Amino acid sequence: MKKLHLRIPGPTEVPESVLDAMQKPMVGHRGKEFEQLFQEVSEGLKKVFQTKNDVLIFPAAGTGALEAAIVNFFSPGDKIVCFTCGVFGDRFAKIAETFGADVERVAVEWGKPITSDIVRERLAKDKNNEIKGVLFTHNETSTGVLNDIKALREAVGDHPALTLVDAVSSLGGADIKTDEWNLDVVVTGAQKALMLPPGLGFISISPKAWEAAKNSKMPKFYWDFLDAKKRLEKWQTPYTPAVSLIFALKESLKIIENEGLDNIFQRHLKLSKALREGLKALGLKPFVEDEFASPTVTAVDISECEVDVKKLLKKQFNMDIAGGQSKLKGKIVRIGHLGYVDELDIIDVLAAIEMVMKDDKLYGVGVSAAQKVFAKEGDF
Ligand SMILES: *Cc1c(COP(=O)(O)O)cnc(C)c1O
Repeated sequence: MKKLHLRIPGPTEVPESVLDAMQKPMVGHRGKEFEQLFQEVSEGLKKVFQTKNDVLIFPAAGTGALEAAIVNFFSPGDKIVCFTCGVFGDRFAKIAETFGADVERVAVEWGKPITSDIVRERLAKDKNNEIKGVLFTHNETSTGVLNDIKALREAVGDHPALTLVDAVSSLGGADIKTDEWNLDVVVTGAQKALMLPPGLGFISISPKAWEAAKNSKMPKFYWDFLDAKKRLEKWQTPYTPAVSLIFALKESLKIIENEGLDNIFQRHLKLSKALREGLKALGLKPFVEDEFASPTVTAVDISECEVDVKKLLKKQFNMDIAGGQSKLKGKIVRIGHLGYVDELDIIDVLAAIEMVMKDDKLYGVGVSAAQKVFAKEGDF
């Protein structure tokens, strides 16, 4: 018997009650019963996005929702600046390029965040307001960096470009105040902090972005947000929704509401801090400095590690952690701690790492450091 321990940054573990909710018999998506459900989850999602804006729900991977966010607001030839610090920032840029935007990538070293200065300087050069869109990644899952979106949006200032944010691995785990921070388009997916199986994409859209949507000429049919908005006014969708996942969403929103957003953000911060202290105590170096560390995923530098931690965790404990992506392959491993995760999940990953390090002097060392963080920080 080898119980699976899923510690990757998505898909994440799903609470039993959310899985149970998916077992309900199908309902027709054009009936009253579905409309009521769709209204309830649409309004519930707004609370998690901290917005009064419309939030659209599409059956899709997060990447599909990112593609939708590009094709609905821009036209071929539009100038878009993508600030990127890793794989997912690069992907957002690539999507815009694929649809014919004139994309400029402003990149920083992987493991570091985008700074306000970089954003301010680039936009200050745009005297004629040629830039139509600015793309950010809130939490760069490939490196474990959390970008300070509030500060980055302030750096955009009153430039008329739309601000689009990939919040796939942060929303529901790290604070993101869509309205207060003035974010035009925020995108997330089901299978990260929202504790759902994969298969839903969520996009919030500001009034300014809706205006831009009217002039967008990039091709779209399935992803047409204007069509989806018309349907949403009647709590409907243009095409068949993923009904079972919507049942599940209702349950996960209930769990989120019961815990409360602030408590959820605090919990993620504590889990991240305890894991980082545990790793450091074991002589393993977090890839990102504390100051920019993600509350939802932690990357560990393994370039000087003598054992293949990821492989051994899988072999000995059936524990899944993630490897490095792209140029970080073989250099880091990544541990997900987002969504349905608690203190003992952090203890268990540290204990498992201690046991595969092949040095019995390390037994309990990482665990103890994490326990001390938990003791100091108190209950969630
Ligand atoms: C996971 C992730 C995505 C992609 O989500 P998929 O559902 O795999 O398409 C995009 N951006 C970020 C930051 C992510 O963490």
